Amino acid sequence: MACRSCRTFGERTAIRTPQDLAAAILKVKEGVASGILRDFPRYDAMTIPIGELPAERPWPDDVWCHLACTTCEQLFRLSAETYRGRGGVLEQIAS
Ligand SMILES: [Zn+2]
Repeated sequence: MACRSCRTFGERTAIRTPQDLAAAILKVKEGVASGILRDFPRYDAMTIPIGELPAERPWPDDVWCHLACTTCEQLFRLSAETYRGRGGVLEQIAS
């Protein structure tokens, strides 16, 4: 469960357009900048640190970022497929 600190990230947010993705990236970057979230790198091929993800296009073909709440350790994932425009999601995930 998301805690009071990270609950604004706990609602599943569908990403359907490049504008949605830009907004989701900005939201996560602000979460990291304000200390609510921290980067939680998972060292598989497609995951990149949020700090290396540009706020605007061009993005990598596949966007995969993992974040953790600095208070409750809840994990979040930002994923999107930009190449074919299939969209993506910002959601909380099981650890
Ligand atoms: Zn939390």
